[in-house]
Amino acid sequence: MGLKICPLASGSSGNSIYIGHGKKGFLVDCGLSGRSIERRLQILGLSPDDISGIIITHEHQDHIKGAGILSRRWSLPVYTMPGTWAAGCRELNSVPPDLQRDLSGGFSLGAMDIAHFPLSHDAQEPVGLVICWKKRRVVIATDLGETNTEHEKIMEGANVIILEANHDRDMLANGPYPWYLKKRIKSPLGHLSNDDCGNFLSQILNDHPTAVFLAHLSQENNYPELARITVENLLKEKGVYPAPNLHLNVIERNCVSQPYELT
Ligand SMILES: [Zn+2]
Ligand SMILES: [Zn+2]
Repeated sequence: MGLKICPLASGSSGNSIYIGHGKKGFLVDCGLSGRSIERRLQILGLSPDDISGIIITHEHQDHIKGAGILSRRWSLPVYTMPGTWAAGCRELNSVPPDLQRDLSGGFSLGAMDIAHFPLSHDAQEPVGLVICWKKRRVVIATDLGETNTEHEKIMEGANVIILEANHDRDMLANGPYPWYLKKRIKSPLGHLSNDDCGNFLSQILNDHPTAVFLAHLSQENNYPELARITVENLLKEKGVYPAPNLHLNVIERNCVSQPYELT
């Protein structure tokens, strides 16, 4: 039995990914209503019994919306950074105090070890995650305005990389957003573009078997085929795509994606 990775949704209208092995699993972010999360878990054949906790990467609404309700309903501990707890969001404040956990030191669940690393984003203490399972490594980094050499070290050689490809630069520049929002998205505290994502991946991918999932696509300034083709072209330029060991996928924005099993 492998490690199941099941994206429930990804993007500014809500983020949540189930990761689990056997009966031990957790949600990374909980940015949909409690009911939507329950429905999507059902579609995947999962029940509350399969969930042992919720990890929150940062306090933006699209990551926390259902955290309080599901924590209370299913008595789930919620793990996040001290800065995120201190952000004072209603959804996180409504997590019962005895279920509020500090993510700072990481934690283990079954055979999974969960650690975090800092991201550059306009939140109090935003983090990416590293999940180690049987010498395999899954890395999740959405909501980051820029990458750095530390991110390269963390993602190089990972078996699964879930990385943001938020927007197409031209669509953002010519799209309907007000200038201050465009400026925020493009800034080092905003979101990675398709080009940023592709350029970063072309630096770190090699012949190591890797499944890459493009995540957190903008509804207004991107679409799945464009994200995929932009990243593919940048990888082709560097000679790392196509490759038999590299699987490139795009996570669905508003519905459950095809589950992936890491073996
Ligand atoms: Zn987000
Ligand atoms: Zn965010």
